[in-house]
Amino acid sequence: MKKLVKSKLLWKIDNMAEEFVKDRFSRPIISLRITLTNRCNVNCVYCHHDGMVSSSQEMTADELYTICKVAKSLGVKKIRLSGGEPLIRKDIVEVIEKIASLDFKDISMTTNGTYLEKYAQGLKDAGLDRVNVSLDTLNRETYEFITKKDYLESAKAGILKAVEVGLYPVKINMVIMKDINQNEIKDMFYFCKENNIVLQLIELIESENCDDDKFSADYHYKLDMIEERLADIADKVHERKFMQGRKKYYIDGGEIEVVKPVDNSTFCANCSRLRITPDGKIKPCLLRNDNLVELISHVRNGESEENLKEIFIDGINNREPFNS
Ligand code: SAM
Repeated sequence: MKKLVKSKLLWKIDNMAEEFVKDRFSRPIISLRITLTNRCNVNCVYCHHDGMVSSSQEMTADELYTICKVAKSLGVKKIRLSGGEPLIRKDIVEVIEKIASLDFKDISMTTNGTYLEKYAQGLKDAGLDRVNVSLDTLNRETYEFITKKDYLESAKAGILKAVEVGLYPVKINMVIMKDINQNEIKDMFYFCKENNIVLQLIELIESENCDDDKFSADYHYKLDMIEERLADIADKVHERKFMQGRKKYYIDGGEIEVVKPVDNSTFCANCSRLRITPDGKIKPCLLRNDNLVELISHVRNGESEENLKEIFIDGINNREPFNS
């Protein structure tokens, strides 16, 4: 096993619990985003599949626990679980319970919400803090066009259940697409405001993982103009430094965040996230697959926590801003 190259990293091993590990660009590693599965029950027309290369492999709840334990020992504070659709996993409550036993500052999940009505209370009881639910439209035909499924009502019921059980703050992820849903922002904002939900507008990302590679070019809608408008009408604006510098607008008692990853050097400069693929590789960047670091075989071989930490450090050393 290779020795840890301390000099490459700006980190303090002596006081690890209090310090974030930083990458070669001085970006702290605060959160770990784990793609639990590539399986999904909808088929969104724009989906980048979390930048994952297709794989049917998944990690067990115990393996996920080990990975999160090592991440915690390196200073990671937040875990986000994603997919595919994370709620498609039958052992999802056990996964949350195991990760929650490590006492992270924040455990969240990104889900399409269609199974959330059934699972929300169990997830909350198991230790999940909050959810982001992907919902691009409140219109049934548009929902079917985007997802190829007629699940709008289940997604909405799941969202309302998440609010009811206190998976707070519930956020709605709305990917904005030209001529598809850009005119629905106001309706979605009022749906969110009425139900105590934060609205997150997301710029459509072009990705080689998208099944229709022309879709994002044809339907891309720049969020700059929307942001200018929000800035004009907002009562207050807050910049979330370690959340890729994204801005949050407080308007008329509601909240809107804007996520603009496309060609955005500020987004990359403030990225504090490391990813894990469903087949157990460390993925340093959403938009790249040529710098992954194998992790799960080492977990399965029973490597020590110290050795697993070194593998994490290799992944962190591979981090570099996609846009600079
Ligand atoms: N199935 C879960 C869901 O629907 O939220 C989690 C997986 S999904 C890949 C995670 C998030 O990525 C969703 O909020 C989705 O809207 C967003 N997303 C997927 N493809 C995207 C793209 N091309 N551009 C921007 N966001 C995208």
